[in-house]
Amino acid sequence: MPSYDYRCRKCGQQFTTREKIAEHNAGAATCPQCKSQEVERVMSSFYAKTPRKS
Ligand SMILES: [Zn+2]
Repeated sequence: MPSYDYRCRKCGQQFTTREKIAEHNAGAATCPQCKSQEVERVMSSFYAKTPRKS
């Protein structure tokens, strides 16, 4: 079961959820912090491109 990264548009919370493809297509993702469904998918490549500053 794949995992997906999301970011909440309301509170900015980032979270990872595991869901079935059917659930993913149904837009079942919900922010665990504010329960908003206004979340956007964060591509994993986003993190790969983000430079890490120590
Ligand atoms: Zn939220």
